[in-house]
Amino acid sequence: MDVKKIYMDAEALLEGHFKLSSGNHSQYYLQSAKVLENPKTAKLLAEALAVQIKKSGLEIDTVCAPALGGLIAGFALAQALDVRFIFAERVDGIMNIRRGFEVKKDEKVLICEDIITTGGSCMEAAAVVKNFGGKIVGAAALANRGFCKRENSDITTKDNCKLPKNIPFFALADFTFEMYAAETCPLCKNGSQAIKPGSRGN
Ligand code: ZN
Repeated sequence: MDVKKIYMDAEALLEGHFKLSSGNHSQYYLQSAKVLENPKTAKLLAEALAVQIKKSGLEIDTVCAPALGGLIAGFALAQALDVRFIFAERVDGIMNIRRGFEVKKDEKVLICEDIITTGGSCMEAAAVVKNFGGKIVGAAALANRGFCKRENSDITTKDNCKLPKNIPFFALADFTFEMYAAETCPLCKNGSQAIKPGSRGN
């Protein structure tokens, strides 16, 4: 499965010269929600991820996604794994589990996002699940931004990865690409101008 091509075709991975919200410039921009706007694509990607997870033999009772980013990917993955799905959400900035969702003691929970950058929101959701008595058995994302090492990939974990090393991390592909400070951006040096992705209003 050519995951990057699926992202490209869905306009979820854009190539050009972009000014990111951090202020950095990049040749690529990943708008991971776009790849999930077609439910068939969402199903296809989640099923491929589920195959990888099942192959590992990991036992999972429940998938938990941090809202909003992980909702669709998490739901689709839970469906593909045939397990329960719950989500954590921020209330006044603090991640919590609400809406009557329960987590049993020692329930095996996999945290799922659409994309994992450093794994920050993933770990916030994991902390809440643990507070409820659940056990975090793994992390998963459709796309890996390349800061954390996923199963079956050669890339090394960077210092800013927040995922613990003692749980497996599954993703379909690594989307590693350079980011440049505006002053040293080679694309700017070549005379092109960075555009803000989402300038069409999203
Ligand atoms: Zn630039």
